[in-house]
Amino acid sequence: MFEGMRIGVLGTGYVGLVTGACLAEVGHTVVCVDRDERKIESIRSGVMPIYEEGLETIVKRNVASGRLSFATETAAAVDASEIVFVAVGTPSLDNGDVDMSQVKTALRHIAEAAREDKIVVIKSTVPVGTGSMAETLLRSLARSGVRFDVVSNPEFLREGTAVHDTFHMDRIVIGAASEAAGARVRAALAPFDAPVLMTNRESAELIKYASNSFLATKISFINEMANVCEKVGADIGMVAKGMGMDKRIGPAFLNAGIGYGGFCLPKDTRAQLFIAENVDYDFKIMRAVIEVNQLQRQRFVRKVRAAFQGDLADKTLAVMGLSFKPNTDDLRDAPSLDIIAMLRQYGASVRAYDPICGPKAAALLPDVPITDDPYEALEGADAMLIVTEWAQVKSLDLDRAKEALRRPYVFDGRNVFDPEQMRAHGFYYSAVGK
Ligand code: NAD
Repeated sequence: MFEGMRIGVLGTGYVGLVTGACLAEVGHTVVCVDRDERKIESIRSGVMPIYEEGLETIVKRNVASGRLSFATETAAAVDASEIVFVAVGTPSLDNGDVDMSQVKTALRHIAEAAREDKIVVIKSTVPVGTGSMAETLLRSLARSGVRFDVVSNPEFLREGTAVHDTFHMDRIVIGAASEAAGARVRAALAPFDAPVLMTNRESAELIKYASNSFLATKISFINEMANVCEKVGADIGMVAKGMGMDKRIGPAFLNAGIGYGGFCLPKDTRAQLFIAENVDYDFKIMRAVIEVNQLQRQRFVRKVRAAFQGDLADKTLAVMGLSFKPNTDDLRDAPSLDIIAMLRQYGASVRAYDPICGPKAAALLPDVPITDDPYEALEGADAMLIVTEWAQVKSLDLDRAKEALRRPYVFDGRNVFDPEQMRAHGFYYSAVGK
């Protein structure tokens, strides 16, 4: 019979909270810690600090069963655990390097708190060499007789489907210097029943960056193909479909549009470039991927301006969707923020629709009226700009939308609609790569 372990999780954000809750769900006893007291208070009172489908149910069920608890002191998680997962943030610094301050602080707190041997699992996305740096740091700060082993276990979940992804992982990557520590982490993750790749720490760390960099490359590649399609009269939807039918290529991440955003792909591509620069390697593809992604946002704004003869000064534009992708409330590096800033610079009045981001977005966009009613956003606007492919946008009543708009202009940054159908409805419709 499966015997649950005692596990601590440091950092209760998108990754830490989902990981902690799912580890409890499969039978471990888990203490999740965050330094943000308000976040912990909120979770304790039953209000999830992030939007993820299915998360609230799992958290509440496991809190009720006593297998999941929350704390603000690292010692609470370290004392109670054999394995401590580190899932704190690793944002970008201005120069593209990874800001490791949260990880280092977490490690110091673990070392101070530990009174017996611990396995520390780095789940945060971190540069190559972090596992070995962490082990050296922990061992140098350890109380006498306490041994630390550091294992790398990069996370591949996607925001918006994070709980589902955790229970349906494509693979579990475990990078360990100690065979025994690696085996223990493997045993802890065994209930998730996914293929396991055991490797050394450095390879595990690089697998995460390589995977995200490759996904970003697919997106920038298909976006450049879309730009070519526009010039030669081809349809990127068909081109992507034809490419994706090739098993060597696969259909995922071939949706042309305004490019990637979010917490991971932008910072991980920048970090990959920085990691290469550090070892004196010019990673040319990565540089282009990042540049293309930025240009794609600008291209979208250029198309809107061109349709209004370069004059957005007295135009009201309805931006549909703010989160960087559907089914999440994450606004970090969301294309919407860049696009809205550019439109406003050109003098446009912008208003926005998002089904769930309103409260978070209000702080970032204080002068932009935000509503969770799509038709209210469209009422009297000169154009509808589709920035996030929310189901609510895909299923708009097109007749009603056209009636609400002052002009029937639609700029579809996510290729949500069929151009023929839109034209049949009497819209001026502009998509990407069609
Ligand atoms: P996040 O910012 O949502 O969460 C990080 C949390 O850590 C915050 O709540 C913060 O308060 C807390 N924290 C910081 N220092 C702490 C400390 N010393 N002790 C306790 N708590 C501390 O970040 P996230 O999106 O969950 O990402 C976490 C890591 O996982 C990053 O390295 C990221 O690159 C990686 N990752 C993220 C995703 C994703 O989809 N968000 C997917 C895969 C990997």
